[in-house]
Amino acid sequence: MAATRTQLSQAYPIGSRVDEDGRLQIGGCDAVELAREFGTPAYIVAEDDLRARAQTFVEAFRARTSDFDVLFASKAFPCTAVYRVLAEEGIACDVASGGELALALRGGFDPARIYMHGNAKSVAELRFAREAGVGHIVIDNADEIERLEAVVGDGPPQPVLLRVTPDVRGMTNDKISTGQADSKFGFSMADAPAAIARVTRGPGGGRLDLVGLHMHIGSQILELDPFRRAIEAIAPLGDFGTYNLGGGLGVAYTAEQEPPRIADYVAAKVDTVTRVLGPGKRILDEPGRALVANSTVTLYTVQSVKRNVSTWVAVDGGMSDNLRPMLYGAVYEAQVADRFGGGTPVKVVGKHCESGDVIVRDAELADPRVGDVIVTPATGAYGHAMANNYNGVPRPPVIFVSQGDARVVVRRETYDDLFARDVD
Ligand code: PLP
Repeated sequence: MAATRTQLSQAYPIGSRVDEDGRLQIGGCDAVELAREFGTPAYIVAEDDLRARAQTFVEAFRARTSDFDVLFASKAFPCTAVYRVLAEEGIACDVASGGELALALRGGFDPARIYMHGNAKSVAELRFAREAGVGHIVIDNADEIERLEAVVGDGPPQPVLLRVTPDVRGMTNDKISTGQADSKFGFSMADAPAAIARVTRGPGGGRLDLVGLHMHIGSQILELDPFRRAIEAIAPLGDFGTYNLGGGLGVAYTAEQEPPRIADYVAAKVDTVTRVLGPGKRILDEPGRALVANSTVTLYTVQSVKRNVSTWVAVDGGMSDNLRPMLYGAVYEAQVADRFGGGTPVKVVGKHCESGDVIVRDAELADPRVGDVIVTPATGAYGHAMANNYNGVPRPPVIFVSQGDARVVVRRETYDDLFARDVD
């Protein structure tokens, strides 16, 4: 993408701009100065963007229904400071493991507004959820019903939702598609009636209180019709008070991608629930990436520019800080942070010992040189979440920026951290 000085791709955080000298400013901070101060690679999070998107979701729901909750699907960015900001904005939370539950509690979420997911929850995780007072547990499979009933024992009944797969797919990568009948998540439409009967009338003796259904058809969905069809598909399963409709709203990773507006996504879901399932339903939604992806950019420093058939711009991070291109061919864009514009077609590649460690396959950079700071936008979702230590590379820091101030909320890992779990 060849950005001009006045036009910045929508993949960047709200409030970002390229100044008159062609330098990227995020949250009022100069990207190259951030790189100098905090080092690279680094995740730079525009706090105001996080807050604005949370508010947009809440306002969009409030405009159409009085009985709703917006849950942060925290798998997308499980970082205490992010949990804290979204809790402050009045958002509820979805966790997919005991670890995410621990982070959500530390980030200040009211346990009553936490929803626990997982297709393989252990007894220890279910006990932790009960002890913490988690409001709702989402039952994913038949084995979990008995396991949870045993954990509940003679205690107060546990409110639960039952996860179903409506057999509707959005146009998205197989690896992030979840709503098909043959899925590792949830009960198929064929199996759901028996599971509903088992939870409500089975031998568990009322230990579980089934308040409604949950579904999630997949991620990075850029059209609204699959969401409508999924709601229509689950209607025959019965009349429930609560419907959790998952997340799935796609985001712009590049200037070319046109995701639906949050307000249109919310309208499509709420209006379809009212039309198909009836008025007065409690509607829950679990956006992950749509809340956090565009809040963040990653900064790298160029280590080498090599020309053979292609021009290879090698940076100081890669698949250890952004696994998505390697995992499912995810597409990103890149720019030189103080020389926006195109000119040279390049491959931006990482430092890892894998040929597949390519961060941006088709970038256009303005005459890239060793020492330049490279920026890739839209790395807030599943970047920090999937960061790893491949090749012994320490994980990057998370830096919050707002109105010209920058603060470290997660420090950079050190080599000592790499030894921290050794026992001798
Ligand atoms: N809810 C559930 C149950 C999920 O499995 C996921 C992602 O896999 C999400 C929410 C978040 O999806 P997204 O990040 O696409 O909004």
